[in-house]
Amino acid sequence: MIDTAGLDEVEIDDRTGLVRVGAGVNLPKLITRCARVGLRGLEVLAGIPASVGGAAVMNAGGRFGAIADTIHAVEIVREDGAVERVERGAIAYGYRASGLAGVVVGVEFGLEPGDPVAIRDRLKSCMAYKKNSQPMAADSAGCCFKNPLLAEPIDGIGEEGARVSAGMLIDRAGCKGLRSGGAVVSGEHANFLVTERGACAGDVIRLMDEVAARVRDTFGVELEREVVVWRRGCKEQLEGSR
Ligand SMILES: Cc1cc2nc3c(=O)[nH]c(=O)nc-3n(C[C@H](O)[C@H](O)[C@H](O)COP(=O)(O)OP(=O)(O)OC[C@H]3O[C@@H](n4cnc5c(N)ncnc54)[C@H](O)[C@@H]3O)c2cc1C
Repeated sequence: MIDTAGLDEVEIDDRTGLVRVGAGVNLPKLITRCARVGLRGLEVLAGIPASVGGAAVMNAGGRFGAIADTIHAVEIVREDGAVERVERGAIAYGYRASGLAGVVVGVEFGLEPGDPVAIRDRLKSCMAYKKNSQPMAADSAGCCFKNPLLAEPIDGIGEEGARVSAGMLIDRAGCKGLRSGGAVVSGEHANFLVTERGACAGDVIRLMDEVAARVRDTFGVELEREVVVWRRGCKEQLEGSR
């Protein structure tokens, strides 16, 4: 039997801001707990549905910050079964990427003690921003594509080297409302593909391909998927990146 002890453990030192948690801990619940005891740092991730381990691997984040900003170290189980502590400095964190190889079983955060009321207000405003700009009530996998870096300047979009919004490119390529079976490009935020009753994975994958093709044809920009596509029976991830 797999030993899962510790995966849901939470240790919070509200005096020093040191927070040690198992990778299976629910991130939104941890954010609320830390805000309640007056620890600043995680509240900017309000509204991101994730386990702590998944968020640490994906470097989950958004407009107001990313989880890497608060991480001190992670504990990893390597393929050979060895357990290793990896310090923040040794993790190749980047935009929605960590380069972490192995299974993350625990994460240590360094948060900052602060005023609980101010932290709660910040949490609420980050959540409100997300609710107002994204289809949070619909069924989706979140943003489908990473925000791309422009290889060359594009008029009205951005300079060479700028990271621009994938949602904006998808919207301007005329994709809002585009449909494949039960999957539809959200009218609220074009980087979200929302699903209706009866939608299947194939609908979503076909729609992602169509959206990427339209953005390529319109702007010459290659969108990279943020979602990871797995295929039944395959051990390794067939597509996607860390
Ligand atoms: C409505 C909605 C809104 C979203 N908004 C955002 C957002 O604002 N910002 C953002 O960054 N993301 C967002 N997402 C995407 C999602 O929340 C993040 O990608 C999150 O990090 C996924 O965490 P998870 O625990 O569900 O991981 P999963 O989706 O299960 O896994 C993600 C990847 O991490 C790997 N992984 C998971 N756990 C571990 C582990 N313990 N050890 C090693 N590898 C692991 C998986 O193999 C996979 O490759 C949103 C998703 C939804 C549905």
